[in-house]
Amino acid sequence: MSRSTELNEAVSRYLQFLCVDLPTRQLGSAGNQAATDFCARVLRSTGWDVTTPGFKCLDWVTRGAACRAGAKTFTVHSSPYSNGCRVSATLRTAATLANLQFLDCTGEILLLTDELTREQLMPKKYPFYNPETHQRLVAILEEKAPAAIITATSRNPELAGAAYPFPLIEDGNFDIPSVYTTDRVGAKLAQLADQTVHLISQAERIPSTGVNVVGRLNPAAAEKIVICAHVDTKLGTPGALDNAAGVITLLLLADLLKDHASDYGIELLVMNGEDYYGAHGELVWLEQNYGNLRSIKLFINMDALGYIKGKTAFSFYNLLEQTLAVFVEELTLHPGVMEGEQWYQSDQSIAVMNGVPAMAVTSEYFVELCKKYTHTAADVPGVVDAERLVEAAFTIRNMVNALVQIED
Ligand SMILES: [Zn+2]
Repeated sequence: MSRSTELNEAVSRYLQFLCVDLPTRQLGSAGNQAATDFCARVLRSTGWDVTTPGFKCLDWVTRGAACRAGAKTFTVHSSPYSNGCRVSATLRTAATLANLQFLDCTGEILLLTDELTREQLMPKKYPFYNPETHQRLVAILEEKAPAAIITATSRNPELAGAAYPFPLIEDGNFDIPSVYTTDRVGAKLAQLADQTVHLISQAERIPSTGVNVVGRLNPAAAEKIVICAHVDTKLGTPGALDNAAGVITLLLLADLLKDHASDYGIELLVMNGEDYYGAHGELVWLEQNYGNLRSIKLFINMDALGYIKGKTAFSFYNLLEQTLAVFVEELTLHPGVMEGEQWYQSDQSIAVMNGVPAMAVTSEYFVELCKKYTHTAADVPGVVDAERLVEAAFTIRNMVNALVQIED
């Protein structure tokens, strides 16, 4: 069997395990722990020196949510990581910040629509990006202290993936119970303002733990190359493109780079928290590398690569001219890869914002796949092309081997 065929078969096996055999890889869940165990096992069996730095996080489950007013019922969903509730109270509505500021809704049920629900709110303690408008809205909600919140949202693929409706609030640090629904249901509910509404959300926060998986080669080296992919998923998605694809490419690289010999260390980083409200894995990694980020020669992040349509897109950040030239040259040697535009929605950002040279690997039609598949039940192994992942792994292997030859 040829090397490529072997790797292709490995991709199919890994996809089956990560996206079909495991019900979810949501951080804190048993599936997430099984996924990180699996990655650690594969890395160890290929000879990598493996550690699994851990942290506390929340698992979360819901047995559903329901909203009723008189004889009418309305479809609603528990917001991820929200507390549960069982409330009968007057419904108050707010469509704008001005509405909300003048509203008295303490102990009542608050419906948010329109202007207030355009963008998913960044979680309170999210460390990397947190617009003031979001923080202000969250602070006002906490000050108003409604008994529960219903959010009605439309489509917003840039920020919330393809999910419709999307949860406006997804935050284990925000304690007011909330549910979400479509803008259409929201419009019907809004007609019941000032009437009594019954809301039940059977959601529960469960204290849990998670780990990053870190595989090292030549760990004593003064400088290292980091190759990263996040393993966690949003709730309710098999996460084939987002991001079993990246993890699988990392596992292929574990094999392709296991005999790599140079003055550099190589770190394979299975990150756990990219799709989680607290980015816990990212914070643990940053803490462990604090003060040593300058020793990172290159940070490679892989997320949502291998889409069945189009090529694999490589983008570059903070690279020296000579490195960039070598990488762009490598791209010409493989038919299914190309240089793509820079983007910032994934883990390369923790390197880029600290001035570390970085490369991000995703799919050419990233925007399209975000609209169609990201964070939904449709993100299944069938939308991933195994050969694209194998080709990406060979391309990255060659780039790593070329990078260590560059004198700077
Ligand atoms: Zn992702």
